[in-house]
Amino acid sequence: VHGPLLPVVGAGTRVPLAHGGEIPYANLDNAASAPALTAVADRVAQVLPHYASVHRGAGYLSRVSTALFEQARAQVGAFLGAGPDDVVVFTRSTTDALDLLSRAVPTGARVLVADVEHHANLLPWQRSARTTVVRGGADAGETADLLEAELATGRYALLAVAGASNVTGEVLPLRRLARAAHAAGARIAVDGAQLLPHRRVDLGRDGIDWIALSGHKLYAPFGAGALVGRRDWLDAAEPYLAGGGATLDVGHDAVRWASGPDRHEAGSPNVVGAVALAEACATLAALPAGALEAHEAALRERLVTGLGALDGVHVVRPHPEDAVGVVTFTVPGHPASAVAAYLSAEHGVGVRDGRFCAHRFADALGLAEGGLRASTGVGTGSDEVDRLLAAVAQFVTTGPALEYGTTGGHWGP
Ligand code: PMP
Repeated sequence: VHGPLLPVVGAGTRVPLAHGGEIPYANLDNAASAPALTAVADRVAQVLPHYASVHRGAGYLSRVSTALFEQARAQVGAFLGAGPDDVVVFTRSTTDALDLLSRAVPTGARVLVADVEHHANLLPWQRSARTTVVRGGADAGETADLLEAELATGRYALLAVAGASNVTGEVLPLRRLARAAHAAGARIAVDGAQLLPHRRVDLGRDGIDWIALSGHKLYAPFGAGALVGRRDWLDAAEPYLAGGGATLDVGHDAVRWASGPDRHEAGSPNVVGAVALAEACATLAALPAGALEAHEAALRERLVTGLGALDGVHVVRPHPEDAVGVVTFTVPGHPASAVAAYLSAEHGVGVRDGRFCAHRFADALGLAEGGLRASTGVGTGSDEVDRLLAAVAQFVTTGPALEYGTTGGHWGP
């Protein structure tokens, strides 16, 4: 048995089963939102009694809060290897961060993306006529080849890619793409939502210009994310939000906007969220080198091998060159939503089903009707993977005889 790598809150929570009784929840939906680390929960409990308005008040608590908020900014920057020309802008989420960046692209600049992206890294770009969306390849390497070939035309100012796919778990060769982008006069922005919970990134070492992240995927609660990277486009852009804190001076005729993170962070910030996100970053950074990767690889292998061994189960792109703990599968002949409901109702196993907010990619993978996604995290143990495998095995043997009850929401013969 391979235990969790780090303690998370809520582990072992008992959930009701459709036919009575309860069972500890097996959370295999970490890619959607991961449970908070115990260290994060402790840190939140520690700062919660002490917060007050930041950057505004002169009172003691305001000064403490301001220091906490700015310390969190520094920690998130350090986690990602941000340099002196970079800024850490706190946002609500990855979606928010990528939308912000999409509004900071200089006028007339062309953007390149592939259609394998999560909607958060597709729709902000796709709405501009100056964006080219290329079709993804048969695997992440081929998608990278197609992007490189298109970059080589020299037409682009920005390449936007996900570091890891939320559908297949495939990891893109980021350093190679960063080199190709820079050689072609472009910059590279990375959607780090799925990559950062599993891999370390260093903006300087990896040659990445911007990265977007979400706290709730990185073992901190909802509502805090960040855009980290080069400040020049951000300082030259219209403020993302217009309001208090983003200005230096407001006169009758003119507004002088702040530069740096303040420019895009109008309004009272989510101090507790930022502190939680920073604590998650610091906790992951303190893991021994390679520990995260080894944990993920062992669980992914167990998932892929176990699912692949079941007759009647199809695993999507089971053996990519490089991947995180995200595995998508189908049980052909059965709607993914029904299988997911069965796993939950009869076995207390949580997975995600559907098209994963990546409709174009899902359709290209033959998942137009939806797939099932199992995803692991630092709080996942091999016992949870084994419970999923046993539950799917039971479904494929007894599933055809079952019918999902529309009343009562449970399965019966
Ligand atoms: N990108 C990827 C690859 C994701 O998996 C997700 C979340 N499913 C997002 C972006 C969006 O993250 P959020 O909902 O936190 O904005």
